[in-house]
Amino acid sequence: MLPARVAIDPRESLDSYLERIALVNDLTTKSLVRMLKENRDGSSVSTAFMLVRPSDELVGRIVDLTGLGASAVENSTLLRYDGGAPLNLDGFDPLDRASYRAIVCQGWFPQHGTQLCPLCLSHDGIWQLSWKLPVSTVCPDHGVYLVAECSRCSRRFRTRHHSPLRPRLDEHQPCGNPLGFSAPCRHSILREKPTAASEGAIRTATRVTAAIQGEETSVLDGALAPPAYLAEVRNLTTLLLHLASRSRARGFVALPV
Ligand SMILES: [Zn+2]
Ligand SMILES: [Zn+2]
Repeated sequence: MLPARVAIDPRESLDSYLERIALVNDLTTKSLVRMLKENRDGSSVSTAFMLVRPSDELVGRIVDLTGLGASAVENSTLLRYDGGAPLNLDGFDPLDRASYRAIVCQGWFPQHGTQLCPLCLSHDGIWQLSWKLPVSTVCPDHGVYLVAECSRCSRRFRTRHHSPLRPRLDEHQPCGNPLGFSAPCRHSILREKPTAASEGAIRTATRVTAAIQGEETSVLDGALAPPAYLAEVRNLTTLLLHLASRSRARGFVALPV
């Protein structure tokens, strides 16, 4: 077990927690990932789909190294949103790539990487798991739209393929996205300037957050269970996007330029 331990924040994503563990133990993230992967017999523990559903072997390795409970590890991955709240991970096996394609087909599945609220991040240094969800658009605490990409490298945050963790860590929260053959993007994410969200967007975000946390939502004088409400939000958004993208749509609605 690593000498220094830190408590995981209930909102935190696993990559954020592992980076903080590396930092307090004075390890590079590369060394930490190596410790998580290497087996004594020379075989390797898979970190593929670590943020979606980590393999049982990887969960065991994280538990051994950090002292965290297995359920806390799983709660920091997209497993938290399984059961239609708002994802469905039925049939997904992190060791079977074909099963990943099947769950992505459900639509609106979180892409690689994440959005974020720079104000939250500068306040507590915690990368919240909910920022990965496409249905999350606003930070209810600060009333701003989540920032979708780094203003320096123009890529979604944490767009990393080889390692889930950023190569360099410090209090400025460097972006860390790979930039071809040059050094990774060093732009401080804390310098991103989020835009104030509209009142309607904040109201919707508050309802969506409540539904994700398991609360019933009232719609047109009726109550909807969280999975039903979240599925309706997805279906309605898909329909509106479909209509707005038709060539004649410009005549019906004012579209942003
Ligand atoms: Zn915030
Ligand atoms: Zn960047």
